[in-house]
Amino acid sequence: MTVAVRFPEITHSGELRARLGGVDVTGTSVSALATAFAVDRYATAIDMGRCSAALAAQDTVLLTHCHSDHVAGLVAWLSAHTRRHRERPTRVVVPAARRQALLEALAVWPDLDGVRRRVDLDQALTAAQPGDTVELGGDSRARAFAVHHSTPSLGWTILEAGRPRPVLVFTGDGTVEPFRADPSLLDAEAAVVDCSFIEPGTRVAARLGGHGHLQDWIELLGVLPCDTLVLAHLQPEVTAQVMLACLDKASPTDGQVIVPWVAAGGASPDAGVGDRHRRK
Ligand SMILES: [Zn+2]
Ligand SMILES: [Zn+2]
Repeated sequence: MTVAVRFPEITHSGELRARLGGVDVTGTSVSALATAFAVDRYATAIDMGRCSAALAAQDTVLLTHCHSDHVAGLVAWLSAHTRRHRERPTRVVVPAARRQALLEALAVWPDLDGVRRRVDLDQALTAAQPGDTVELGGDSRARAFAVHHSTPSLGWTILEAGRPRPVLVFTGDGTVEPFRADPSLLDAEAAVVDCSFIEPGTRVAARLGGHGHLQDWIELLGVLPCDTLVLAHLQPEVTAQVMLACLDKASPTDGQVIVPWVAAGGASPDAGVGDRHRRK
């Protein structure tokens, strides 16, 4: 059995974009550098490791955690969103244990006065804990769940009214442990997960660092209920060809598609490994 692999397309601004669960998701996710996804349909960004025009247009930022590669773009987002999208809501949802520290950091950031005039940061920053629900645009909502990383962190499940299953799950950074214990956490049309490590011999290091390893995900494929598994937070040197080679022996459940969050480069964007890929 071979695995169906699909790669995101590159937008005119150099970001990656894929249609996941019928919804366009645009963004960047490179380990230790920057993770930020925009979902226009819900006017929502998940993490803000960097900003872009697509990200600036979102009204809500759901943070998974406050490591710099997930929040470094917040200052730019606050500035661009409150200037370019002046009449729109401005909201950052942050793990409760980090809200105060984030608020203090933004309160003293140099030359953020324009932002502090346009928006009350104390009101804009919303604390969230596992089980909390946040109303989003497009008749949707996000539900927070616990993940296993090296700092207070949340995963986010996005549900849309009228759709029987969650559309998207973003796990942020973290090990596979919560999903091995309860695969139903990834019961969604598409799940975006941490695949920081791919080299054999780095599984222990991945777990100790609070990250996912490709081999962990490959072993779990048979029980993961998501239709599409997005492998994000890859190291910067990982290419599409490397991922195709690594996924050669993977066995997803029937119809399941894997999307490594890396540009296709020379690989076909619809690259079933081998010639028996089963994507319809
Ligand atoms: Zn990260
Ligand atoms: Zn992290």
